Amino acid sequence: MQIEASNGSEGGCLCGQARYRLTMEPLTCYVCHCKDCQRRTGSAFSTALIVKTEALELISGTSSPYRALLSGGRTKTGLHCAECSTRLWGTIQSVPTIRVLQPGTLDDASRYRPVAHLWTRSCQPWVVIPDYMPTYLENAPFGELSALWQQSGQGSAPGVN
Ligand SMILES: [Zn+2]
Ligand SMILES: [Zn+2]
Repeated sequence: MQIEASNGSEGGCLCGQARYRLTMEPLTCYVCHCKDCQRRTGSAFSTALIVKTEALELISGTSSPYRALLSGGRTKTGLHCAECSTRLWGTIQSVPTIRVLQPGTLDDASRYRPVAHLWTRSCQPWVVIPDYMPTYLENAPFGELSALWQQSGQGSAPGVN
């Protein structure tokens, strides 16, 4: 589903130089408690808004691709502001058609709600997850996350895209 073109959903980095526009409704949103996300953010978890690659337009600023080679040979890639290093989104090399947007960079960061918590195996002991929230010890199948998104009423109606 296309987001209203007039104001759309815009976001940007901490210093304000890198700005982007999200032009289509996201595919799903979840919280990730994995160790990689904890270390990358320096926090307890990250939130991930899954969007189509074509739905993201960089409208100002200089972004710079980053690449982190993790122990064990895995690679993390994405885009951050060249000035302040705020991460705007991550890429998944095996699935180039989607991006993992950091929803906290949206101007209206309360616009989308997560529908599941992933990697609760490494969830910090003080984090309280609501009983109604679906949880996964590790990764979740994308089809299930997508279905939960539709059920939450945040997704576009089937066939609209
Ligand atoms: Zn910046
Ligand atoms: Zn994670």
